[in-house]
Amino acid sequence: MRDLERESLPLNFRKLDIAARRAALEAAYGEKGLELGALGEAELGLVDGMVESALGCLSLPFGLATGFLIDGRAYDVPMATEEASVIAAATFGARLVAAAGGFSTWASEPVMRAQVFLEGALPGAELEIERREAELRAGLEPLLASLGRRGGGYRGLALCRNEETGLLRVDLRIDVRDAMGANILDAAAERAASELEAMSGGRRLMCILSNDASERRAGASCRIPVGRLARASFSGEEAARRMVLASRAAETDPSRAVTHNKGVMNGVSALALATGNDFRAIEAAAHFWACRDGRYRGISGFRLVDGGLEGWIELPLVFGSVGGAIGAQAATALALRLLRKPDGRGLSRIAAALGLAQNFAALFALVTEGIQAGHMKLHARKREAGA
Ligand code: NAD
Repeated sequence: MRDLERESLPLNFRKLDIAARRAALEAAYGEKGLELGALGEAELGLVDGMVESALGCLSLPFGLATGFLIDGRAYDVPMATEEASVIAAATFGARLVAAAGGFSTWASEPVMRAQVFLEGALPGAELEIERREAELRAGLEPLLASLGRRGGGYRGLALCRNEETGLLRVDLRIDVRDAMGANILDAAAERAASELEAMSGGRRLMCILSNDASERRAGASCRIPVGRLARASFSGEEAARRMVLASRAAETDPSRAVTHNKGVMNGVSALALATGNDFRAIEAAAHFWACRDGRYRGISGFRLVDGGLEGWIELPLVFGSVGGAIGAQAATALALRLLRKPDGRGLSRIAAALGLAQNFAALFALVTEGIQAGHMKLHARKREAGA
């Protein structure tokens, strides 16, 4: 296909409505062949308010991984993904685990960090800030009142001086309840900055939330009797032993761990997309957590205990049930309804179970029949559908 030559777009392009923007685009490219209809006609008013210079929506396959049993409740988990094998694998993992009793999950309190970076803070600034923490807290109270009414709010501070840059970083720890919390965290950092300047003798460089969400974690576990793992020429015992060895490889070899974790995030990110959550924030936090001790490791694993294969996963999960784009589009609202409208922590627990199901299915395929066998079946199905 030849490159499209184009005239300049009008300077007010971003201020036009979507229909006028599409017309301007076709005029600039000088032809009707752009097929802008591919960007859909649904929810145009909504998406125009969501991003600048919107033209429409990219559609992504939206499916359901069925058959989850999580903390004794049955779930079908909506997922948005372009990768052929992801939903099939999650469903396979979910069903095998459900037959063995299901997933048990947990989630911590949703504490996030707002950060103020101070340049030129005086020696001893840390002590002064700690001594006057109550003033900081009081200054933030009006801003955090709505979180306070919901059981969230200010949870303390942490200080860190960077020897290389000389910057003093002040972390304000805030329980953001059911939101991702980016806006309130950014507002809190900006609100506290003037007082912190006065307390430290320094000057603000920047105020922003941290995507290090290591305090806002969730996890899941499951146990499958090894007898249920017999596959192809492998006995259940042998398949389980190979699963454990593969999971040790992810714990000890960063180059394997990154692929292991990508497999986990195949599920987690697909749920984030389906519900309108910020999947970049979720991905960033997960990979930061994976190398929290300076060495990148798997965020899930398997071990053999008393004739059972036990799976576990633990990672930061910044899932909200309100705010941002969560549930804003009809498809993301539907996803939340299918999950019976969980709160933020509930959604994070479902995400942890999904990530573990995904990881189980991927490892199980890898150490038994190999990943290509399943992929090829799906490709064959795709070819038939396209024929
Ligand atoms: P938001 O500001 O739209 O919504 C949060 C608001 O919802 C709160 O201010 C609160 O008043 C209200 N609320 C109602 N019920 C609540 C409940 N039960 N718990 C908590 N709050 C409740 O959304 P947000 O979460 O602040 O921001 C998310 C958006 O910010 C995302 O789109 C994200 O992509 C974006 N963002 C991300 C970054 C980053 O990751 N670094 C930076 C800036 C912006």
